[in-house]
Amino acid sequence: MPTASPARPTTVRTTLAEQFAPVLHVHAELLADCVPAVDADEAQRRIRNGQIGYDALRVLRSCGDLRPRFARVVDAFEVSGFISNDDRRALLDGDLDVDDLVSGWFTGDRTPRDPRRRVARQAAIVVGNALLRAASARVGPAATWKAWTRTACPCCGGSPDIALVERGTQRILVCARCDSQWSARRDGCLGCDTDDSPAIARIGNPELDYDLVMCNACGRFLKERPRRGVESFIVERALTTELDLAAEQRGLRI
Ligand SMILES: [Zn+2]
Ligand SMILES: [Zn+2]
Repeated sequence: MPTASPARPTTVRTTLAEQFAPVLHVHAELLADCVPAVDADEAQRRIRNGQIGYDALRVLRSCGDLRPRFARVVDAFEVSGFISNDDRRALLDGDLDVDDLVSGWFTGDRTPRDPRRRVARQAAIVVGNALLRAASARVGPAATWKAWTRTACPCCGGSPDIALVERGTQRILVCARCDSQWSARRDGCLGCDTDDSPAIARIGNPELDYDLVMCNACGRFLKERPRRGVESFIVERALTTELDLAAEQRGLRI
């Protein structure tokens, strides 16, 4: 699977983005074609009351069979050159349960070490992300959750995995499931009140222009970078898989 090799940041990022074009194309189609059952008024009312907008699993189920969508993403992975024809066949002919892969992703399972399983999970995530992204788009514009102060995503309840730093101060959190973005209300760790070292470890990765920010007090991690130059989050997440693995290896979670 695509992982970053040492090179200049723009080169790694743009090359990977170009390679991902067929996958991004399918992702955009899945997003446009699905009809997730979201009651926007109800979701907005809930968010105003500090509650999560919608039930992600229920909304995902309202979109119908995930398998044909999974197959399209796996095909795109082959076109992109991430997997061989044999891999593609093994993934589609095998006894993979796509619903299981998606719910595993929901419940925060770990990134598999086995390359083929990792690709399967990644393809399932592209599907799940497209459907939830469509669902969150129905909830409304980001202004809907302007007053949101919680760490969980206002729309789907997912955890943020990426923070984008703007003008050196403000942090925008990105939901790992549906890509919704909202402002972090405080500095330091999102999981606990710790806001300084030595509990918080920050490991910079200049090649990727990311910092891996880890809290040893509560065990959460986040990948942080400047907002400028950010690609599709599918690309950003593929680019930073090794950071996830490094954090997970330490027993941390998003
Ligand atoms: Zn979300
Ligand atoms: Zn913490």
